[in-house]
Amino acid sequence: MNHDGASDHDNQGLGLGTPPPADLPEEKPHPEYRINIYRDWCKSCGICAAFCPRQCLSLDAEGAPVVDKAERCTGCRWCELHCPDFAICVREVEKPVEDAAK
Ligand code: SF4
Ligand code: SF4
Repeated sequence: MNHDGASDHDNQGLGLGTPPPADLPEEKPHPEYRINIYRDWCKSCGICAAFCPRQCLSLDAEGAPVVDKAERCTGCRWCELHCPDFAICVREVEKPVEDAAK
C-alpha cells in the first residue's frame, strides 16, 4: 500500500510499474530461434547487425558479428535476407513433442 491508498498491485494493474527500456518494445512470448554465423563465408561487413531490429547481434573487435541476445530474436530473418554472402542463418528451435503439446 502506498501513501495514495493504492496498493503496489493496483499500480501494476494500471501499468504504472517499471516501464520497459525506451528503445525496445515490451517482451512477449515467442518461439526460440538459433542464429548461426558461418565464419568462413562472413566478410565482417556488419550489415546483419545493423539491420537487426532487436539488437541480437553485435560486432567484435574485428567487426565480425557475434550473437549477443539470441533470446530477443523474433525470427524475422532480416539479417539473413540482407547478408550479401549467405553467411548467417536463422532457424526456429524445434521443441520436443511433449513441450509443444503444453
Ligand atoms: S532474425 Fe531478425 S531478430 Fe533475429 S537476429 Fe536476424 S534480424 Fe535479428
Ligand atoms: S551480413 Fe553476412 S557477411 Fe556481413 S557481417 Fe553479417 S554475416 Fe558477415
